Amino acid sequence: MHCPFCTHPETKVIDSRLVADGEQIRRRRECISCGERFTTFETAELVMPRIIKQNGTREPFNEEKLHAGILRALEKRPVSVEDIDAALTRIKQRLRGSGEREVPSRMLGECVMSELRQLDEVAYVRFASVYRSFKDLDEFRAEIERLSSSRQPGGNKE
Ligand SMILES: [Zn+2]
Repeated sequence: MHCPFCTHPETKVIDSRLVADGEQIRRRRECISCGERFTTFETAELVMPRIIKQNGTREPFNEEKLHAGILRALEKRPVSVEDIDAALTRIKQRLRGSGEREVPSRMLGECVMSELRQLDEVAYVRFASVYRSFKDLDEFRAEIERLSSSRQPGGNKE
């Protein structure tokens, strides 16, 4: 970047260190023309899209809320913290990877469901029954049916 004092295009870094628990790099720079020193901070820009709710209102992506929802579905299920964290990371990557500034809450829900389906089927059904709010019991039963039939012996997936 240009020197903020004389606008000379070249500055040299004289010191560089991690700050804010490693989430930021602080660089001390010196202008090679006028010799003035200044500091820059560098952080990764990881912007999550906003969530468009069913009723059309927008809200910021809330990782804590998402994490809590996933934990609730996985309550007393044999799934490790590492696997949960990995799933959470993949969900965020997928939302970010969409490149959209706003995504429908339905898309977030589908991401969570596909992750839970891999982790634990009981958790998946728990989450799906709340999140997708199955229109009626038949639809819910059909989903359970689909799940249990895909676990028949011989249907050796994975
Ligand atoms: Zn300068």
